[in-house]
Amino acid sequence: MDHADAVIVRDGAVLASGDGVVLVPPSARPEGTLEVYLGQDDGRDVVAVVPADATFAGGDDGVGGERMIALRDLIPALAGRGVDGARGLELAATAVAITTWHANHPRCAVCGDPTEPTMGGWVRRCARDQRDHYPRTDPAVIVALTDPDDRLLLAHASYWSSRRFSHLAGYVEPGESLEQAVHREVREEAGLTVRDLVYEGSQPWPFPASIMVGYRASVDDPTLTLDDAEITEAMWVTREELGALVSEGRVILAPRGSIARRLLEQWHGDAASLSRAELG
Ligand SMILES: [Zn+2]
Repeated sequence: MDHADAVIVRDGAVLASGDGVVLVPPSARPEGTLEVYLGQDDGRDVVAVVPADATFAGGDDGVGGERMIALRDLIPALAGRGVDGARGLELAATAVAITTWHANHPRCAVCGDPTEPTMGGWVRRCARDQRDHYPRTDPAVIVALTDPDDRLLLAHASYWSSRRFSHLAGYVEPGESLEQAVHREVREEAGLTVRDLVYEGSQPWPFPASIMVGYRASVDDPTLTLDDAEITEAMWVTREELGALVSEGRVILAPRGSIARRLLEQWHGDAASLSRAELG
């Protein structure tokens, strides 16, 4: 794929500038330790390249502001940037997801021998037993809950940074449907019984290998019984209360561009006022 443009990716970060994800032309591509075919963008082949030079940071010495930016920071930066922002995020999320998988799965899960990338980088093959190993995606559910007064549940998980509040979420367990996972997580973490589950969309979340599946649902009885080990604080809020909590800096919302934020904005109805409240 010597003719392809490249997304440069390393350790969950991609080369980007103020304009978004940088597509490096073939003449400027750095030598790579791994190359994965990402597909076509605007009629041109694109690969993800993990640079051999661990200090690689673009070809222009910072002119134009090129640098390696963590995907977590790129998502809010490119959110709301229209089609170009969305295209860049798709490339970045795919590049991070697939190269993280390679980094975390160097060996055959059956015999333990080292495996080698093949099929454009979408398979790792074991030479010893000829088994093919494929990238995995772990489904997780996230659910925006409302009570009979249309208040939203906001929770703080023990492993989140201080003041971060969002919806309840959790991994889907083996043998479980997505819907069952929602019912179980909400029951376990908050002691609530949900009804009227509605699917709202999904988002790749390669930290390291998830897809977040978003729902909204309601509860008849808002009485909370928290699993203190996982959820240290939770509260039902009105739109006005949420705006005040955010502008006072007592609550930090999920980043723009995340499905958690989208669920929040759908309930709230005025995304712009939430962004204003974040400015204090
Ligand atoms: Zn093997």
